[in-house]
Amino acid sequence: MQVKEIPYKEESISLHDKIWQKGKVAQCQIELTFRCSHRCNYCYIPPPLLEGKEKGKELNTEAWKKLIDKIVSSGVQWISFTGGDPFTREDFLEIYLHAKKKGTFINILTNAGNINKETAKFLKLYRPFTIEVTLNSIKEDTFEKITRVKGSLKKAMEGIFLLKEFSLPFKIKFKVLTLNLKEMEAVAKFSRELKVPFNFNFLVYPRLDGSTEPLKYRLTPETIKEEFFQKDEYPPPSLHLPEGDKRKIFKCGAGTWSFSISPEGKVMVCPFLREYSFSPKGNLLKEFKDLSHTLREKNFTKNTPCSRCSLFYFCSWCPAIAFLETGDYQKNIPYYCKLTRILGKQKVECEA
Ligand code: SF4
Ligand code: SF4
Repeated sequence: MQVKEIPYKEESISLHDKIWQKGKVAQCQIELTFRCSHRCNYCYIPPPLLEGKEKGKELNTEAWKKLIDKIVSSGVQWISFTGGDPFTREDFLEIYLHAKKKGTFINILTNAGNINKETAKFLKLYRPFTIEVTLNSIKEDTFEKITRVKGSLKKAMEGIFLLKEFSLPFKIKFKVLTLNLKEMEAVAKFSRELKVPFNFNFLVYPRLDGSTEPLKYRLTPETIKEEFFQKDEYPPPSLHLPEGDKRKIFKCGAGTWSFSISPEGKVMVCPFLREYSFSPKGNLLKEFKDLSHTLREKNFTKNTPCSRCSLFYFCSWCPAIAFLETGDYQKNIPYYCKLTRILGKQKVECEA
């Protein structure tokens, strides 16, 4: 019998859709801890939390295992463990194994600096679906300027080479900042040499405490256009707005295919929207759907530029980021206005 090969992406989208149609949620992102061995200057987690200020609020091992049981019985099939860095929890592998034995696909997001030989051996035995390693430079001075930790590149490289040595499935992610823009190609080349996928992202957000310090490191809209969209290959914006458009604030997928869990075990539709969260008491899926429905039904109530902008569905604006950056869920973000106008090839004007 001949077996037809189906590309993973295609299969995954169709599976997410089937799960959604059954009224369930396919994915969950677990922030096991805010603690991290790095202090990245662009990170959305405030430095005191990276240092462990809220360690005492984290769920303990048994509480995580119970919550994972609940998550899996609500239909979730993909779990991403993130942080901070999940490997900073002494019990991470125990929690990981518990989730793995439930038959879920597991993704681990890490800076690789805490991966030693024992960890790599363990992961080889209980293989994750994938590991996403953030590597923002291969030059020591740049890397340490970003992570603000001496010796961090050396440790990250040791972790990466162990992942390779033990044939673990991993990819390299690069956050493009003003500090490392010119080093992206070197990291991409390094990934090609390792024969692992590489991807990049240039969006930088304020910190969860409202500090806008990380924004100092984001690229200007002009640089983004020049570096990544030179060939005018960006699709033209869709200007279609339904008749009598009662515009909903949420246009992203938050609260549909996935949910997030905070280190203290609170369920959120999105890690940037922490004000709207709950500690699961009974039926997690029902409680999550109620919260998600309440949020996704919200219309604009203020006459802000975004409430009437013709580029609304083209722009990356979202209410959670608007709140962090401007203190108002409905307000426009001037940086996004500029970026959208530039990427929209200046054919149309935003309302701001
Ligand atoms: S490695 Fe990730 S979680 Fe840790 S400080 Fe850097 S951006 Fe934040
Ligand atoms: S371009 Fe500006 S006004 Fe328009 S949706 Fe984006 S942030 Fe809002």
